[in-house]
Amino acid sequence: MNETTETHYCHYHPTTPTSLRCNKCGKYICIKDARRTPVGYRCKECVRGQQDVFFTATSLDYVITAVIALPMAFIAAQIVPRLGFITIFAGPIVGIAIAEVVRLATGKRRGRYTWLVALACLIVATLLPLLPLVQLILLGGAIELGGGSLLSLGFIVIYLVLAGGTLASRLRFG
Ligand SMILES: [Zn+2]
Ligand SMILES: [Zn+2]
Repeated sequence: MNETTETHYCHYHPTTPTSLRCNKCGKYICIKDARRTPVGYRCKECVRGQQDVFFTATSLDYVITAVIALPMAFIAAQIVPRLGFITIFAGPIVGIAIAEVVRLATGKRRGRYTWLVALACLIVATLLPLLPLVQLILLGGAIELGGGSLLSLGFIVIYLVLAGGTLASRLRFG
């Protein structure tokens, strides 16, 4: 007979005796509440807390990012590269604008791939409407199009580099 052995009860089920404890917060939990983790048994609250730290962005955040970045990038692509040399100043502004709206909408949660999703959306939304033009140039139609089209294509490339660079660095480090 060991008189010093106390009976402990589960934190969530006060009538269930248990000797199992969460190895993080130390509270008693029964086998139903225990979550097996690589570092031992933990209560569900500690498991959830751990996930919040490491995986802040949900897959929904990536969808939200795409839903925001695609139309914004599409509209910007219709305007900015046509501004001539102003593109050099307007490009980074587009990048900042998309990054800030994405961050607002996703509640500043960090996603490992948020910048990649946003960047892909920017590139797709900018280049997809240009596909007929690109095809034409690849087929040797550049001469017929004249220097003006090549120049505007140059501005589109400049715009993509500036807007994309700003967007990616904002969402990655900022
Ligand atoms: Zn715990
Ligand atoms: Zn329990």
